[in-house]
Amino acid sequence: AKKKKRAKENSIKVAVRCRPMNDRELDMGDMACVEIEDDTLTISADPDGTGQVNCIGGRSARSKNPTRAFTFDYCYGPESEQAQVFEDIGTGVLENAFAGYNASVFAYGQTGSGKTHTMLGSGVDAGLIPRICWCLVEKLHETEQRGDPETSCLGTGAESTTYSLEASYLEIYNERCIDLLAPPPNNSEPSIKLRVREDPKSGPYVEDLTTVPVRSMHEIRRMMAVGARARTVAATNMNNKSSRSHAIFTLVFKQTTISGDLSSATDTVSKINLVDLAGSERVSASGVKGRQLTETANINRSLHTLGRVINALSRSSGRKRGYNTPSKDNLFGTPTTSGGAPPLIPYRDSTLTWLLKPSLGGNSRTTMFATVSPAMVNFEESLTTLRYAQECSRV
Ligand code: ADP
Ligand code: MG
Repeated sequence: AKKKKRAKENSIKVAVRCRPMNDRELDMGDMACVEIEDDTLTISADPDGTGQVNCIGGRSARSKNPTRAFTFDYCYGPESEQAQVFEDIGTGVLENAFAGYNASVFAYGQTGSGKTHTMLGSGVDAGLIPRICWCLVEKLHETEQRGDPETSCLGTGAESTTYSLEASYLEIYNERCIDLLAPPPNNSEPSIKLRVREDPKSGPYVEDLTTVPVRSMHEIRRMMAVGARARTVAATNMNNKSSRSHAIFTLVFKQTTISGDLSSATDTVSKINLVDLAGSERVSASGVKGRQLTETANINRSLHTLGRVINALSRSSGRKRGYNTPSKDNLFGTPTTSGGAPPLIPYRDSTLTWLLKPSLGGNSRTTMFATVSPAMVNFEESLTTLRYAQECSRV
């Protein structure tokens, strides 16, 4: 018997997190321009109300209204804890996976704003990825505690479920896929570039991508370490280690339900994509040229396309909110139709969205996690990030 639970509405959540001031920002005597109260974040070019432009950053300060407020599903301040983020975002992802649906979490923001901290974290400050993995691995162990499902079921006539977990880790660099878990072909070349193909039934996938079965946190940690070493990083003058690629960590959680008389087995497969996006900083801010300019153009286009896709999904799931009367100044210029038909979703416009198409939309759960710096010096980039996050869910 198929055990899929009642279809849930496609849901898009938007969260924002502001990290604490870092040493560099404190050393330069910069001030904080971000404040958080409940689900509202306020960014101000004139936080102390002197009417003076703080000259380190905040060029928009000359505008008539230096303070903007943004409301999101979740807002996290500098004191926020990883455990709280997991409770709000991670548990929903897991619930969806247990119910047999896909989920994706994207971390978007300027380099140094806290994307990797939120997704991966470190040591005792573990982020979403290790916490989600931990819960899935726990679920696997539930099966083991019951013993061999076939023998333990025999004679009881009871239906039972077994679980399995697989992971893959890839990055998209210049619109091409690199397998982070494959050993490099030789010492100099980082990794083989893989092709995205399309299966007529299940849609786009990466050809020859390494998929590793995982059964313990030890295996997960080893995999993350292998992947981290393989990630492409390029220096820019923003930060010595600006991430120029999108890293996609994918978990495939499979539940096999075996009928009481052992005559049938039904698989329910859910995919969880945890995506640490490339730094969102604009070219002008990083002063790059040549090869890095191409990188930046690809990053900008893919981030823009992702925003358009999520925005289009928000519209199609937001019927109650009237998606067919879009706001005029829609940042992504999402194509909509006037007759009440669903909007066109531009998956094909970037490798990132094309590849993730099968796990976006439908009954999937999508979370856009925007991260910002609190410092005035980053005012412009933070404002851009906040606008992007807001537009993702605007219908
Ligand atoms: P990104 O991945 O966006 O480039 P990181 O996650 O590497 O940024 O964060 C940059 C630095 O700031 C790291 O040293 C990280 O530990 C720290 N950091 C980021 N977010 C937080 C936070 N919410 N709380 C404490 N430290 C943070
Ligand atoms: Mg990072």
